[in-house]
Amino acid sequence: MQKPAIRGGEPVRKRPFPSWPFSGDDEVREVLEVLREGPWSAGSPKIKLFEEEFASFHHAKYGVACTSGSTALFVSLKALGIGLGDEVIVPSYTFLATATAVIDAGATPVIVDVDPDTYNISPEAVGRAITNKTRCVVPVHLAGCPADMDGVMEHAEAHGLRVLEDAAQAHGAEWGGRRVGSIGDLGAFSFYQSKNMTAGEGGIITSNDEELALLARSLVNVGRDVKKGWYEHVRYGWNFRMTALQAAVLRAQLRKLPELNRRRMESAAYLDKHLSEIDGVRPLSRPPKATAHSYHLYITRVDVRRFGFSTKEEFVKALNAEGIPCNAGYRTLQSYPFIAEKSRIPASTPHADKASREEAVWIPQYVLLGSRDDLEDVVEAFEKLRSGNAG
Ligand SMILES: *Cc1c(COP(=O)(O)O)cnc(C)c1O
Repeated sequence: MQKPAIRGGEPVRKRPFPSWPFSGDDEVREVLEVLREGPWSAGSPKIKLFEEEFASFHHAKYGVACTSGSTALFVSLKALGIGLGDEVIVPSYTFLATATAVIDAGATPVIVDVDPDTYNISPEAVGRAITNKTRCVVPVHLAGCPADMDGVMEHAEAHGLRVLEDAAQAHGAEWGGRRVGSIGDLGAFSFYQSKNMTAGEGGIITSNDEELALLARSLVNVGRDVKKGWYEHVRYGWNFRMTALQAAVLRAQLRKLPELNRRRMESAAYLDKHLSEIDGVRPLSRPPKATAHSYHLYITRVDVRRFGFSTKEEFVKALNAEGIPCNAGYRTLQSYPFIAEKSRIPASTPHADKASREEAVWIPQYVLLGSRDDLEDVVEAFEKLRSGNAG
């Protein structure tokens, strides 16, 4: 049973939003083929097909499937030769795996602030953080909005840095017509069940660099060399292999992605238009060069005091009580002591702090797959919480 609305009356929304994830005949057919014909893991043609299809969809020559977005990030850093004594620049406002991958690789995360209008890594802040130990930058395409890759690549070229795109939320997103995961040296994607396409778990590394891709393939396969025997390990590695069952589901999910992302973009445009008319609500901006945004999240900035609340958590609770799925999103990376003690942290990150403590409200991607009526309910719930608060 739904809890009563915090601002009184009936909740705006009593029905659930579209459920996520969902599968169709296509997923079932793909999985049955694997179950009946095998192999279920290494050597499966399904895995190879999925890697090729996903990579080419993202304008990348190579794809290396693996167990998760976290392992995709870690293996990418290892393939780049990043380790002890190296510094890797990461945004403060991201999932903690962006930083733990750097720590696990033996290097030091250097945390920088984000842009206040997109919450993506600030190229100016990257510029200020570069030292003679910096080896790599990890732009995160937060919520599915591509980071400013022009700004990031300029610094990388000027200082000889490698670029690893954390595209865990950005399947199908584009910067200037170029799909993410093919702009930097490597891209890391996640197929966790909340993501825009999923097999429950899974990940993939994309690249246009053959040498890096071969190295990544060896690292996820316990240091094997494709041309050598199964027990002829040529380097230190891990078992981070994806199963054929996951690849089968993901082939079907990839075929649905363009249409689902189109609907997410259309719904986001509707929410942008109507929510920005409400005083105290400012949706994040979509830069003109973000020619495709995957809207893994719909993030808006809310001045909760204007709604009569003193904390963001209270606002989120009230919106939830109106039947709208939403949450308060990330804390900053440096707010976790076990990350802070292993990172280099700037004197201040005002924009990431403001996002996490005060203003960022996240609506998950599956809400954007709803009908126009569903979206009207989202807007109406914001309006209801705002009404009667002149502030
Ligand atoms: C989901 C996510 C990851 C990690 O992916 P997993 O598959 O959950 O390991 C990394 N970075 C970002 C930005 C993510 O959203």
